[in-house]
Order: sequence, then structure tokens, then C-alpha cells
Amino acid sequence: MTTATRLHDAIAELAGFNDDPEAGGITREVYTPTYGAALERVAQWMRDAGLDVRLDAVGNLFGRWEGGEPGAPLVLTGSHVDTTLNAGRYDGVLGVLGAIEAVNLLRDAGAAPRRTIELVAWAGEEPRFGTGCIGSRAAAGQLERADLDRLRDRDGTSMATALRDAGLDPDRLGEAELDPAGIHALVELHIEQGIVLEDGGESIGVVTAIAAPHDFRLTLRGAATHAGATPMRLRRDALAGAAEAISALERIARESPSATTVGTVGALRVRPGAINVVPGEVDLDLDVRDSDLTARTHVVDAVLAAAREIAARRGLELAITPIVEDMPVACDPRVADAAEAAARELGLPFRRMISGAYHDAMIMGSRVPIGMIFVPSAGGVSHHPDEHTDAADLENGVRVLAGTLARLAA
Ligand SMILES: [Zn+2]
Repeated sequence: MTTATRLHDAIAELAGFNDDPEAGGITREVYTPTYGAALERVAQWMRDAGLDVRLDAVGNLFGRWEGGEPGAPLVLTGSHVDTTLNAGRYDGVLGVLGAIEAVNLLRDAGAAPRRTIELVAWAGEEPRFGTGCIGSRAAAGQLERADLDRLRDRDGTSMATALRDAGLDPDRLGEAELDPAGIHALVELHIEQGIVLEDGGESIGVVTAIAAPHDFRLTLRGAATHAGATPMRLRRDALAGAAEAISALERIARESPSATTVGTVGALRVRPGAINVVPGEVDLDLDVRDSDLTARTHVVDAVLAAAREIAARRGLELAITPIVEDMPVACDPRVADAAEAAARELGLPFRRMISGAYHDAMIMGSRVPIGMIFVPSAGGVSHHPDEHTDAADLENGVRVLAGTLARLAA
């Protein structure tokens, strides 16, 4: 069987591990029985590829190909096989099943890497418990035992309880931390989840940096007065103020000196939310991202200044609540160069680009040298049943990953 066929069949088979098939997409949240069964299937594929398999304390699954020099820091590659609700079949999955195929390719070519190559399926990249990347956060030493009781899913189940239900021991969390000294480099193959590659007609994205979000909530408070009885000049309309703030965010992000700054208001809550009442209170959740921290900080500061001005002019109260402020991560030039060399060798058109979405690699990037390889996403659609990447693009990604691993492990 060819690489493309094997990968296609494996992705299709894994898509069958689904808690909500009627909805059209794939629902496979971390630590559920369905996720456990899918992970066991992945472990079997790893064993079939000749890898030594182990599961750590938070359910990160590793498959090890011992190198010729066992003491040398290893090369780590992988992604995740959990999904959000009604999602697609490629997000994360490509980076795990594609890594298994990359190992098969290297073995078929008779490769004998000097460094150990270790594959990983990180637990819980999608935020079942509100926070994403819990498996890689544990590996990076960024998760405390107390967090496991604090982090809860939408049904109120704590991460500690979910771990126990999955047969894991939350009190052994510390054992999941990886020693950065033992890792030479980490590379993650992933679908782009954007339209940059498709737009440019390139097959491969060599990621140079991963943007990180700075998220915060603005709450504007005015007066919830009668929509018929309150003259325009006497209103304190929180939603009209929010509309100005959204426009300000869009303008400031567009005018950012960094071409990669993005700003979004994806959630808005209007109270009381009745057609005949002037909106008295509005929450806007803002997400500002860039790989360039200076530009991101500049945009956030400018948006907050604009919001204060809008609130003062309109007689609204303004409250600012922090949500998250993650650090962007630069990819290691050695990893990017290895990926670029692999793409060149295969004659594939590629582009150096940033990742606008964040990934497990970003979390590990605080500890070890990292890089990422992107393949195109049709229409940029992701976290949706229509998520699609052509078979040829999937195979190209696997071949570039194999070439990257061979270079990093040489
Ligand atoms: Zn992903």
C-alpha cells in the first residue's frame, strides 16, 4: 500500500471513533471512552510501525524509535487526536498518523537515525476543560495538581475526575513533565486552518513563529431605558458604544505595523436583550493575536485607549477583565531550515509563514526548540465537518516531515 492510501485509510478509520455521528462532524473529547478507544487504535498503529509505546500520567501517548546513540537528546514529533465538538477529521490527527507514516517511510528507505525519534499524541489539545493543550502543558511543567481540580468541563466534571475515569492517576501529574535537556527538537505537522497556502498556491508552510492570543473582556454599562420613551440625546446605549469599540479594534488591527496582527470580537452578550429596551450592559470578548509581541501590545493598548474614550464620551462605565495572555513563540531556525530543505529536495513549493492558531508545539516552545510544517486547508475551514485537505497535500506533508525528522535526527 502507498503512503497516501495508508494515511487516508487510517484517517477515515479514526474518524469512526465519534460520539456524535448524527451531527455530521466528529466529536471525540479527551478522556472519554471513545477517545480512549481511538488512542488504543493509534497505539496499535504505533506498534505496527515497530515503536515502543507508553502512556504518561496525563494520557499523552508516546511511540519510540530508538536511535543509534541512545543517550543523545531525541527528536519529538506529534500532535493530538482529540477533537472539539462536531469537528473535522484532519486537525491534529494528521500530525499523529502522519508521523507514523513518516516513520514507515524512513524505515522503508533503510534510515538508521542517530537520535531517537519519539512520536506523541498529546492529550486534550482542544479545550474540554476551558484551557487547551493540557497534555503539552503538563509535559512543559505548566500544570499544577491543584489545576486538575479547578479545571472543569461544561458538565462540571473536573479534569482530575476525568483522569481517574480514564484509568489515570491525577496525583502522578508531575511524572508527565519532560526534561528539556533530553529533547533536541520538536516538530509538529498540522493542517494550516487558514487560507494563506491555498491563496498562494504553495504545498507546504514552513512555520517561523506561532502567534499567541491576548484575550480580554470589555464590559460597557449604560442605562437600560425604554426604547420608545427615551429620546436619542438622553440615552446611554451600551451596545452602540460596543459597536464603536468593535470598529476601533478592526481599524487599529488593520493599521498595525505588523502585517500579521489580527483582532476579533467573537462573542457579544447584550443585556437585557429585548427589542424595546435600550441595551444597558454589553460584554465584548476580544482576541488580539500576533507572533510579534511588541505589535500585539501596541494594538491592545490602543484598543483599550479607544474603549476608554468611547465610554467617556458616551457616559458609559467600562470594566476590563483579563482572560488570557499567552506568549508568542519563535520557531527554531534549525527546525525551519530542516523543513525547508526537505521541501526543496522534494521540489515542493513552500512558503515561510507564521501560525495564527496556537498548537501544542507553542506550549513546548517555552522549553525546547520547536518548528511546525503546514499543509493547505481547503477554504481555510477547520473545527467543522467540511474540514478538508487533499490526499496529495497530506502525502506531501508526510514526506516533508520524514525529511525533516531524518535531518534533525542525523
Ligand atoms: Zn490542532
